[in-house]
Amino acid sequence: MTETVTRTHRDGKQQIADSSTVEDVFDDTYKEKDGPKPPTALVWRNIVLMSVLHAAALYGLVLLPSASVPTLAWTAVCYIISALGVTAGAHRLWSHRSYKAAFPLRVFLALANSMAFQNDIYEWARDHRVHHKYSETDADPHNATRGFFFAHVGWLMVRKHPDVIEKGKKLELSDLKADKVVMFQRKHYKVSVVILCFLLPTFVPWYFWGESLTVGYFVPGLLRYAVMLNATWLVNSAAHLWGNRPYDKTINPRENRLVALSAIGEGFHNYHHTFPFDYATSEFGCKLNITTAFIDTMCFFGLAKDTKKVSKEIIAARIQRTGDSSNKSG
Ligand SMILES: [Zn+2]
Ligand SMILES: [Zn+2]
Repeated sequence: MTETVTRTHRDGKQQIADSSTVEDVFDDTYKEKDGPKPPTALVWRNIVLMSVLHAAALYGLVLLPSASVPTLAWTAVCYIISALGVTAGAHRLWSHRSYKAAFPLRVFLALANSMAFQNDIYEWARDHRVHHKYSETDADPHNATRGFFFAHVGWLMVRKHPDVIEKGKKLELSDLKADKVVMFQRKHYKVSVVILCFLLPTFVPWYFWGESLTVGYFVPGLLRYAVMLNATWLVNSAAHLWGNRPYDKTINPRENRLVALSAIGEGFHNYHHTFPFDYATSEFGCKLNITTAFIDTMCFFGLAKDTKKVSKEIIAARIQRTGDSSNKSG
């Protein structure tokens, strides 16, 4: 069942308070502190790990021609599963509560999320709510006004701005703490990542069709992981810098088809920041949006329900009021 929601963003005219309301609405009362910005402190451990991962992914690219067809298909499967763990799981379900998922689906999404290895669900959802609430300010973990590189990966290579930490601590996260699946994944996060992000992608091709362990480790393992990471980061970098703003021209996030394709539906970012509670993160349903198709399929099988959707009238009124007149951008 799709529930039409009249909750609005930024202008806050009408907000429906229900149990699934989360703190993902832009807070324009926050003001950045005056004076010089705190110095940037590099986190060398992350810089080294990211560099090694990307060098290994390049080696995976070199090995790609020697991978068998089943291994390539398995790489694609691992890519989609880990992407869903982020898009359908950490993002649309746990950060935004844009639909409800039954226990088996939540377990699948938590496992898929460990395969994606992008911090556990609790931490990911907390950072993401802060990103929406304080978008493009010092309190935004990947503040895109600091440039493409910072919004893409640089934010993971430096210490967080104190305001990100301060505002993150003040967020309401009781819904995440109450979800046993989220807290179980957090408790066993490291071991789940080792098994699902590295061992499973490597050993399945080796065990079932005799692929070499080297190809298994570097192609469905590290290359798939690095490409998935970059696809997710493009939502924070490219989709905050390049594209049209048909719904709200006063905010930075934009509609970017290329990002929608690589991040399986998360590139309709002007729409998403305007209506963060919409389960499709897009006006256009399943178009370029595997995640929405997946959630619809889960609804069909009774594993998901109560998908929130913005009504056509509200979208049209918003386009009229704050859009940049490019509303065919899709
Ligand atoms: Zn964003
Ligand atoms: Zn979001």
